[in-house]
Amino acid sequence: MSESVVLRKDEKMQCYDCDTEFEIPKDVVVGEIVTCHSCGLEFEIKQVESDVITLKELIVEGEDWGE
Ligand SMILES: [Zn+2]
Repeated sequence: MSESVVLRKDEKMQCYDCDTEFEIPKDVVVGEIVTCHSCGLEFEIKQVESDVITLKELIVEGEDWGE
C-alpha cells in the first residue's frame, strides 16, 4: 500500500500501518522523511503548500529506485 496522504499542517499524521498519530514539523520541506515513532514506517514529504502537506509511504524495497 503506498497511497498518498494529504493533511493540513495543523492536523496530526496518522500512520496507516499502526494508527499512531504523530506531528509533522511545521517547517518540513519536500523530500524530507518523517518516521512513525511506533512502527518505524517512513513517509516522504511529496508536496508542501501553504497549509497542506502531501506525504507518501517511503518504499525502500524492490528495484524501483531508478538510477
Ligand atoms: Zn506506525
